[in-house]
Amino acid sequence: MGGSRPPARIPLNWLQMTLAATPSQLAKYEVVIGLEVHVQLATQTKIFCGCPTSFGAPPNTNVCPVCLGLPGALPVMSKPAVEMAILGSLALNCRINPTSRMARKNYFYPDLPKGYQISQYELPLAEHGFVDVITDKGGKRIGVTRVHMEDDAGKSTHDGFKDSDRFTYVDLNRSGTPLIEIVSEPDMRSADEAYEYMTYVKQAMEFLEVSSCDMEKGHLRCDANVSVRLWGAEKFGTKVEIKNLNSFRFLKQAIEFEISRQVAVIEGGGTIIQETRLFNPDLGETLSMRSKEAAADYRYFPEPDLVPLQISESWRERLRASMPELPAHKRARYASQFGLSEYDAEVLTSSKDIGTYYEQAVAAGGDPKLTANWVMGDLMAALKAEGKEINASPIAAANLGNLVARIVSGELSGKLAKEIFPKMYAEGLPPGEIIERDGLKQISDTGAIEKIIDEVLAANPKQVEQYKGGKTTVIGFLVGQIMKATKGQANPGVVNDLLKSKLG
Ligand code: ADP
Ligand code: ZN
Ligand code: MG
Repeated sequence: MGGSRPPARIPLNWLQMTLAATPSQLAKYEVVIGLEVHVQLATQTKIFCGCPTSFGAPPNTNVCPVCLGLPGALPVMSKPAVEMAILGSLALNCRINPTSRMARKNYFYPDLPKGYQISQYELPLAEHGFVDVITDKGGKRIGVTRVHMEDDAGKSTHDGFKDSDRFTYVDLNRSGTPLIEIVSEPDMRSADEAYEYMTYVKQAMEFLEVSSCDMEKGHLRCDANVSVRLWGAEKFGTKVEIKNLNSFRFLKQAIEFEISRQVAVIEGGGTIIQETRLFNPDLGETLSMRSKEAAADYRYFPEPDLVPLQISESWRERLRASMPELPAHKRARYASQFGLSEYDAEVLTSSKDIGTYYEQAVAAGGDPKLTANWVMGDLMAALKAEGKEINASPIAAANLGNLVARIVSGELSGKLAKEIFPKMYAEGLPPGEIIERDGLKQISDTGAIEKIIDEVLAANPKQVEQYKGGKTTVIGFLVGQIMKATKGQANPGVVNDLLKSKLG
């Protein structure tokens, strides 16, 4: 999207000091949200030239006459970019238009040397899709209006504080990077729904490897359109657009701030003006950037240097057939095939790698529910502590599945497993090797356990007497002594049974 850059400095405008609405005021209004999400496609080269899209090269080195916008240079559409855009659109259940057309969106900005962005306008790549989201309030279908392709602009960096040393630096390495813009219907009714929608878009693009969705690098960014109306009102309220939200936390904060601001303005007798606002993460507030009156007229017209995009049914279906299982399908399958709760299924399908790991662990003999607990609990905690992703897990999926299988078979108590797990994590060994080496086998042999029980009972006559006198809770103390004597290796079930029968 053009014209979305912040001014070099945002003036502290006291007129913008905003009121927050009270809970009872908020309760009178329904919230309406539509999102415009920009996704950077993971192609090796730019959309209309052969320059690399790699990140971090020295400024203005990944450039050529096409992406520098030099006069006479002609764009050529990248086939991988089109294929990724089609895949992304299919994942959002869109219909792919057999013919679509690129369009010039004209505006001036120093990091847009062509003087226009090549986007799509009246004939976008794809339309009429949807995304199903789940929030605390239940399931909901959010419409996807359209998906269109476009090129990204370069990057401006604003520097300096005094007027005499304020500079703007322009780096055109990003100029011509392929993007898709995903425009939703105004179907969301809370910041939570917007959050879940955005989460699904990110997951789907990651599953398809259509984008790395690295938000810190700006590969996924979003404009949120927000309005409020009295419950039961027929017409939507006036919308405000919040530009360039590049984190999930900011998305939620910005929407929540904006809802409160709008309700406070209306309740104070004011009206909402249609405008573009920017979220300031330091203040946690949105600030006005420009109003509708100042909005650019882009003078869109069909791009004369590119032929229309023709996407045949066979091309489209070939791409559809190549798609991996998408997160929504996987989520439903985990619930039915493995009997997992909706929450567990969601966590385990949140990335392709987590799902793959989990399924490999189950395939290695891990009980599905217990394996889910170990993956989501101990494993994720250990990985998080080191900032590691699951594909860098020192415990191979099959080894975790094997550990779980040994618990279910009764070979290991939960307590022993908790002792073995950190060793597996630290040393990368299978559980069997650690059990052998450290002698961590559970003792289920009744003869051996009986002997220890006799010793413990003989050493604790007072507690035995108390038990026989009716204070049965002392059994916990006796079990503790037995487990201590066996270094926690006695099978707790066997200990309990034997102890009770001995105490009569
Ligand atoms: P514009 O012409 O200003 O670009 P569009 O109709 O194209 O507006 O919509 C842009 C985005 O704003 C879409 O995601 C749409 O769902 C959303 N939107 C439209 N009207 C409203 C509204 N009243 N409140 C919240 N979002 C809205
Ligand atoms: Zn180039
Ligand atoms: Mg629009």
